[in-house]
Amino acid sequence: MTELKNFDKTPEASDIAHHFHGYTDARRHQDVGPMIIESGQGIYVTDNSGKRYIEGLSGLWSVGVGFQEDRLINAATKQLKQLPYYHNFGHKSHQAAIALSDQLVELAHVPMSKVFYTNSGSEANDTVLKMVWYRSNALGKPEKKKVIARTRGYHGVTIASASLTGLPNNHRSFDLPIDRVLHTTAPHYWKEGRDGETEEQFATRCANDLEALIQKEGPDTVAAFWAEPVMGAGGVVVPPKTYFEKIQAVLAKYDIIFVADEVICGFGRTGEMFGSITYDIRPDVIVMSKQITSSYVPFSAIMMNDRFYQPLADESHSIGTFGHGFTGGGHPLGAAVALENIAVIRERDLVANAREVGTHFLQRLETLKESPLIGEVRGVGLISAIELVNDKATKSVSTVGKLGGLMNAAMQRNGLISRNMADAVAFCPPLIITKAQADEMFEIIAKSLREVESEIG
Ligand code: PLP
Repeated sequence: MTELKNFDKTPEASDIAHHFHGYTDARRHQDVGPMIIESGQGIYVTDNSGKRYIEGLSGLWSVGVGFQEDRLINAATKQLKQLPYYHNFGHKSHQAAIALSDQLVELAHVPMSKVFYTNSGSEANDTVLKMVWYRSNALGKPEKKKVIARTRGYHGVTIASASLTGLPNNHRSFDLPIDRVLHTTAPHYWKEGRDGETEEQFATRCANDLEALIQKEGPDTVAAFWAEPVMGAGGVVVPPKTYFEKIQAVLAKYDIIFVADEVICGFGRTGEMFGSITYDIRPDVIVMSKQITSSYVPFSAIMMNDRFYQPLADESHSIGTFGHGFTGGGHPLGAAVALENIAVIRERDLVANAREVGTHFLQRLETLKESPLIGEVRGVGLISAIELVNDKATKSVSTVGKLGGLMNAAMQRNGLISRNMADAVAFCPPLIITKAQADEMFEIIAKSLREVESEIG
């Protein structure tokens, strides 16, 4: 029997009754209930009680141009009226995907050749892994199928991309990772560096660890390496000096493809158009999502060079088709919004804004190091984090996640939404943030930190 709808139910009660949330303790949700966001404007969002917050994480690291940007809304409306849907199977195409592919290849800092479209960051990474395997078969190297990502890296949640992700909660009870997906050292100098080891020496050790893993597995069996220029969901990990230079030397030695996951870093976040530019990475494949449309529309793209693409084209020709593609891949709505979003980022020079306001904000965050609870302040451009500790000398916490959780709750009370990954609290505001707004955000962080200090005594 169908249950009668209860029209007296509050949205909170309905949410608890019927909405299964991602990345949420489902049992706890019954007690805590949802935080319902009603609207957004610029860097701010407002909940259903009318309380306004700074969106300190741009939603999920993604609303680059801010909420309610009319240019994106108008571009979406125009595209929906003209051609609300089309696909790219069987030689079909449409203007929005054509123009966007041109635009992305032109934006690339290294020679790129083709763009393949998907719907989310996870799906894009999943697709790249399939392409890596397909390519090795095309090259007559069926043994070359293993791939290496990094502990604490984040590449998504589908079976393949969750396997690439190097975080325990994405593996536990999901029977992941799948085989042939391996992980090497997280490049977090503050946490992983040894006593007396310089940043450069630590970077050398990371590259040596990678090479040792390749040797152990057999150099002919390793096909690709995955990295975010700056790790995001792993707690905002900025690579140590010389890290990518040394990593790339190892990859070149063993003919291994470099996949740069620019899902967070792409389109200005680090103060350059791509995080790969900031760290002088010359990837074969660039994975993009989130900020490509400022997340107004779910959308993702994989850009690749000829070294990666040509064997795929050969194999598709000998089989008769590239047996992969999505109904929504290159969706006209997403492509049109992406084009307009990139135009806004370029015309308003939001990349420079990320650099300038980001530097100012980081300088202010640095002053928090005086607090007995701040172990590290890290970041680049407009992506940063503070790491809370109970004991600065040993860089340790008494209960993992407690300080981060308290800090996050205090900030939310004080009008700033962000996210804590255990005891790292991340900041990744929209790229449009002004210096004055960055100061406003900093004041909330500083006030919240003082509250946490007194809370724990
Ligand atoms: N790659 C990176 C670097 C990400 O940060 C994310 C999401 O946070 C993903 C991939 C997965 O993207 P999605 O959530 O769209 O599947």
